[in-house]
Parts: sequence; structure tokens; C-alpha cells
Amino acid sequence: MSRLVVVSNRLPLGDNPSGGLVVALQDALRQSGGLWIGFSGEHEGMTSTQLVFHEGAAFQRAAFDLSPEDYDSYYLGFSNSVLWPALHGRTDLMRIVPEYLEGYRRVNAHIADLMIPHLREDDRIWVQDYQLFPLASELRKRSVTCRIGFFLHIPFPGPAECAALPNPTELLDWVSEYDLVGFQAERDRLNFMESARQLGDIEQVEGDVIRLSGRTLQARVFPIGIDTASFMTEARNAREEDRMRSLTGAQMMIGVDRLDYSKGIPQRFRAFQLLLENNPDLLEKVAFLQIAPPTRKAVSAYRDIREETEHLAGRINGEFATVNWTPIRYIHRPIPRHELAGLYRQARIGLVTPLADGMNLVAKEYVAAQDVSDPGVLILSRFAGAAETMQEALIINPHDPWELAEAMAQAIQMSANERRRRHSALLRDVVEHDVNWWSSEYLAALG
Ligand code: UDP
Repeated sequence: MSRLVVVSNRLPLGDNPSGGLVVALQDALRQSGGLWIGFSGEHEGMTSTQLVFHEGAAFQRAAFDLSPEDYDSYYLGFSNSVLWPALHGRTDLMRIVPEYLEGYRRVNAHIADLMIPHLREDDRIWVQDYQLFPLASELRKRSVTCRIGFFLHIPFPGPAECAALPNPTELLDWVSEYDLVGFQAERDRLNFMESARQLGDIEQVEGDVIRLSGRTLQARVFPIGIDTASFMTEARNAREEDRMRSLTGAQMMIGVDRLDYSKGIPQRFRAFQLLLENNPDLLEKVAFLQIAPPTRKAVSAYRDIREETEHLAGRINGEFATVNWTPIRYIHRPIPRHELAGLYRQARIGLVTPLADGMNLVAKEYVAAQDVSDPGVLILSRFAGAAETMQEALIINPHDPWELAEAMAQAIQMSANERRRRHSALLRDVVEHDVNWWSSEYLAALG
């Protein structure tokens, strides 16, 4: 079996790393004597001139550090102030600065340099996500001929957003250097095809085989899943502990998102406000728990979304709270996974309402965590990749607060029979298409 080499922006460090991607790739890495390469998280000193190997996992791990300049331009700059907003349909939030693009190209070229001494001719390389679009192209320049795959965890935008990038044709050329490009949803594959038609040079050869910028490759959809079995166990176990500290008599709605402008948190708060305004009987009967840990604090758009979110939560609480009841509980800290599992299970409604999202794993975790005999209701944005396979959720348009408030009311009143019917269909999909299914499908296609 040829060796699997995974490259991602962040290397999973620490002893026995966990997390969805690690679980998904662990077996394939272990069986093939594989190697995972990524950024160490260190960005105070110099950019590494060679990879540093770390013990303590079932596979080899090799890390690199970044200098403050490289981190600012490659990571905070081009990745998260240009690509992230553009690929999430927020071209208004892009900050195009020539140094960002230069830094992004430079760091990707440097990662290729770091990799070269450690590669073998028959490796299979799997590159993860938008921080690393140019990596195959850089490896090809250094005469790497093995199979290289790419998986995009976030959405691929249509031609309008692509055209707003400083380098749309370069982006398509980068993609063309892979042998297999994986997307989260059919929506992304279609956007990619249409963007390439309008801005690049593409023809469909047959099925999912395309010719892009003169190279032949495959473009396919592989919806990512979660580590379903272990999440179900964690949720069941959490239930036992939580009996002793039962949260509240009110019906709980839960939202769990990094505090990112793509997640639709203010829109969700406004819809909740409408729900309370239109249904005075629900006062003191529903409570909304929003967990929104900080992320990318050095990027100004993230400071703005924090202010907006906290301002709204304060205003709504000020208007509706009573001495016995706080309508919105907002937590701006990360909550560990096993605790989340218990909270999902206690929540009657899971609110997953992003304005744009590659997949959204919280939607799948919420479903996996439910008690099958008395499950909660998932309210899901049509703009999450998850909506393509999770049609038994209440699918909503997150921009429309009336529609969202109506779905909240419907979820609160939903009969146990209907909740069970919807949940069992959702759970079947989350169980069948877990993260191991995703990685095996992808690796089988990569060959
Ligand atoms: N998460 C967590 N603690 C938190 C908030 C989120 O462990 O306080 C986890 C959550 O359980 C999920 C992941 O972070 O597994 C978020 O993935 P998702 O696809 O929903 O969104 P992303 O953050 O990747 O955009």
C-alpha cells in the first residue's frame, strides 16, 4: 500500500490527538506508515527551515513554525481576510492587500520545499483546505509526480465571488494541478464548474472527469461526517451526570458556533426576539443557550461581529428578562466536546443557521446526541452544506427572521411522533455517512 501523506494548515499536536479529521485519517495513516504535515501554531519566531518531527501519535507528525510576517500575510491575511470571506459570499469583507497574496504564495512554496526531502515517489498526498490551494502546483514545480488530492472544507463560490478575488484564474490553475478535488456539497461542485466556465478554461470530459487549464482531473462531492459512534456514546454518558444539575425548567434551544460572521448568529438572535414578541406565552418557557467561542481575533471583521452579537444579546435580555429568567445565555468561551454532547441532548431545539457553511458539523453532532425516544428538532439553514443530506430537519432561510421565528415556534410545538420520525431519518444518514465513510470514499477515489 502506498504511503498516505496528509497536509493541513494546523497539525494535530499533543498526545493522542482527537478531533474528527484525526479520527477519519488515523487508520489510513497508521496502516500505510503515514505522515501528517502542518503548522505548529508557533508564530512568534522564525519560519522553520526544516520540518520538526513529533512523537506521541499512531502516525508520523511533522510541524513547521511561521514567522510573524508569514503568519500575518498567509494565515490572517490571504487565507482569512480574502479567501474565507469571498468563499463564504462576503466579498464586502475582503481586504485585498498585495502583500497578503505574496505571503500566501511564499508560504505555500516554502511548505513544498520543506516537504521535498521527506517524500517518496509512490506517496499519495492529501491536501486539506483553502489555506493550501497552491501546494500541488508548488510540488509539481519541484517534479513531484505522485497522486495529489485536495479537499475543500468550505464552500466554493459562484463566478461573481470568484471574480472578486485578486487572482481568479490563478486559483483555478492551482486547482488544476490536483488529481482529485473534493467538495462538501453538490452546490460547491456546480459553483466550481460554473466559475471555471466563466473565468477559466474547462471542459467536462466524462462524468466527474474534467480538463481544467490543460490538465485532466476528477471533481467530486464527498460530504464530510462526524465520528458518530463515539459522539453518541459521549452524549449518553453525559446524560447521567446532567440529571444532577438539570439546567432549567424552560425548553432549551442551543446554538454552537465559532463567533464567525458566516454563522448567522445576529440573525438568529433577531428571530428569537421576534418569537418572544409574537408569542408572549413563551416568556419564561424557552431559553436560548448560545455558545460562541472566539476565533481569529486579530482580524477586524471578527471584532465587529463580536460587538454586534454582544450588543444584541444585551438588548434582547434587557427587554425580556425577568428576575427568574434570562432569555439568551451567551458563552464566549470554547466548551469541551463531551460537555457539548450533553448540552445538545438536553436541548429541545438545535439552531444551525449559517448564512454560508461548507458542511456544519454541529448539525450532525446535534442529531447524534439526541435521545431516540424523545429527540429534539434540528432547525437548519439551507445554506449549510449539511442541508443537502439533512432534508428532514426544518430547513429555513436564515436571512428571513419571520421564517426562522416561525420554525422555532413549530419546533416547540412539534409532536413526539413527528420529532421521532424526522430524527430517525436524520440519524440514519449521520450514522451511515460518518467521518470514516468520508475518508474511505475519498481515499478510494484518490487511488
Ligand atoms: N466546538 C467545540 N467547542 C465549542 C464550539 C465548537 O468543540 O465551544 C466544535 C463543534 O463541536 C464542532 C466544531 O467545533 O465539532 C465546529 O465545526 P463546524 O463544522 O460546525 O464549524 P467550523 O467551526 O468548522 O466552521
